[in-house]
Amino acid sequence: MKWTVPFVDLPRQFSILEEELLTETKRVLSSGSFILREDVERFEERIAAYLGVKYIIGVNSGTDALFMCLLTLRLKPGDEVITVAHTFVATIASIVHCGGRPVMVDISDDFNMDVRKLEQAITPRTRAIIPVHMNGRLCDMEEILRIARKHDLPVIEDAAQSIGASLHKRMAGSFGRAGCFSLHPLKSLGVGGDGGFVATDDGSLADYLRALRNHGQREKGVFSFYGLNSRLDNLHAAMALVKLKYLPEWLDKRRTLAERYESALLDIKEIKLPPGPGAIGERFDVFNSYVIRTARREELKRHLASAGVEVFSFWFPPVHHHEGLGLGHWSLPKTERISAEVVSLPIYPELIHEKQDHVIREIRRFFKNG
Ligand SMILES: *Cc1c(COP(=O)(O)O)cnc(C)c1O
Repeated sequence: MKWTVPFVDLPRQFSILEEELLTETKRVLSSGSFILREDVERFEERIAAYLGVKYIIGVNSGTDALFMCLLTLRLKPGDEVITVAHTFVATIASIVHCGGRPVMVDISDDFNMDVRKLEQAITPRTRAIIPVHMNGRLCDMEEILRIARKHDLPVIEDAAQSIGASLHKRMAGSFGRAGCFSLHPLKSLGVGGDGGFVATDDGSLADYLRALRNHGQREKGVFSFYGLNSRLDNLHAAMALVKLKYLPEWLDKRRTLAERYESALLDIKEIKLPPGPGAIGERFDVFNSYVIRTARREELKRHLASAGVEVFSFWFPPVHHHEGLGLGHWSLPKTERISAEVVSLPIYPELIHEKQDHVIREIRRFFKNG
């Protein structure tokens, strides 16, 4: 189907950056340097400067970034790691693959962990907390860090959806022991395939992860322990470096689009909007997604599809309701209610205002406010 307004428009992004991306691709391909070379190093340096952290370790995906950080906890059977169910399944999978038991805290209206429910989830078996910064908005990190310090627990941030978001000018992924990021094409900074990285200020963690991603080699040819093959490809690093230059401008565009959705939809009583970009002064939300809520979700989706607007309800059913995952015993009322109501609207730097106006017009028409 040819959409009037697609959910994302990666071909358009490519056509804008075509010359630069092809030049870089040709340079890398003709150099023959593919694994852990200069582009990866340069990417790691630039991202470290951008996020204000000491070390960046490029890996294969956001999923591996989480998995590798969780491995360092050396979990024993019965050990618990606290997170949320309103997240991509990879957050929870990383806990389970490392032998831990995921403990889920319910969320608030801003789609992030409800910090009022965090402390009661801590038990003597708790080994770490993974806050997930959903949709480009930071969790209440001050409160999470306060509770984590009180109980002497490490915090590993899932910042896959929130590169560039900040709280009091501190960047997502720079609060905890480690921040995990994704370079998946649907994230604000995406490459032509899978990629990810870990951000940390902890030098020994950085050294360990660098060896872990490369078969346990602390130095070339010496296998210090059993590692993985989870490296960021040099070609993807070169691509990410091209896009990183544009990232601040792209995030501003996302915020402008969010502002436009907000002012155009604010008066419709049947929908609940996410916190807007201007709502709280000390926050810088980056709107990796713009997620509205409505009780008439399915009808609205059908109406928008018939008007050529592509939308998604990514978090339905919620992760803990997927039978194969064995999490059915969890009851998370807010997560469940929100999951039944969410609609992700198109939001990306290449979305021109005329097209966004079409989405707005159709939403207003559906609710008879047009
Ligand atoms: C995308 C995403 C991941 C996984 O990242 P990949 O690079 O696709 O492996 C993890 N957590 C969240 C919240 C995500 O949105």
